[in-house]
Amino acid sequence: MKMEIENKKKLFVDYDGTIVNSVAATCSCYNEDFKYYEDFVPVKWWEVNTWNFEECNCATTEYINTYFNQQRFFDRLTYMDWAKETLDELKDDYEITIVSLGHSPNLKAKGIWIQDNLPYCKFVGVNFEEYTDKSHLDMSDGIFIDDSFKNLITSNAIVNICFGDKYSWNEDWTGFRCNNWNDVKKFLKGDESGN
Ligand SMILES: [Mg+2]
Repeated sequence: MKMEIENKKKLFVDYDGTIVNSVAATCSCYNEDFKYYEDFVPVKWWEVNTWNFEECNCATTEYINTYFNQQRFFDRLTYMDWAKETLDELKDDYEITIVSLGHSPNLKAKGIWIQDNLPYCKFVGVNFEEYTDKSHLDMSDGIFIDDSFKNLITSNAIVNICFGDKYSWNEDWTGFRCNNWNDVKKFLKGDESGN
């Protein structure tokens, strides 16, 4: 059993925008809170293309940021398509570590969410008070999946995979991209059989 664990490949995976649709949960909270405001227009998550949710123009960035520390944000979180199914499958071959940035209440809530929903994943919370990216973590023996250009270019993983559709926060990425979790599965399974 011990040998089996040691032989697993390492996979480091981002949380927000990679495993779960944090943009959709944020829009859901915003659309509820500001619906009676004069300038309000419902914001559809797939139309958000700014890191700071500028589309949510009735709210300040500070207000939006408070969502990430609230239980209702986590209650509204949904998986990115096929994320859960793919992770469930990959766990047999990979030691999966979820690496995510946040302020301490957010990281505390994320830890609980992961324990409840993806208990086979390890969790490394990176505090915004100390770091702006994930470069202090040694990923030199693994594969890293993230939707943020900044995190990808500063990582030392063997393979860095940009997750999802093109957004302003990753449009400059010229490396390998997986548009969805089916692509991730195909790549990682292919990678496995190619070795
Ligand atoms: Mg992300």
